[in-house]
Amino acid sequence: MSDELKPCPFCGGVPVAKMEDSDEKTAVISCRKCPAEMSRHVHWHEDGTSEMSELVAAWNTRAPDEAAMRAGYEMAAKEAREIGVFLRRFDLALKDARERGDAG
Ligand SMILES: [Zn+2]
Repeated sequence: MSDELKPCPFCGGVPVAKMEDSDEKTAVISCRKCPAEMSRHVHWHEDGTSEMSELVAAWNTRAPDEAAMRAGYEMAAKEAREIGVFLRRFDLALKDARERGDAG
């Protein structure tokens, strides 16, 4: 396939395209890193081509998708919180190590 997928519009992650159903009716492009996802019903033509390219084009034009944007934002907010917790723990561990060092 010549259709190349651009990186995820929300996190820059690598997207993956696949058929959702075993009967190959729905194509899904999803991000490997965040919950961003886009799906389209696929129509197969007699010459063997499909309208998957339409889905690829839609993904590549980065059409605003409120749900995906919210999901991306929530993930970023969660990561920010986790980093905050990590930094606090790191701070405490450092303080603890210093105190132990002073005592010993
Ligand atoms: Zn993503």
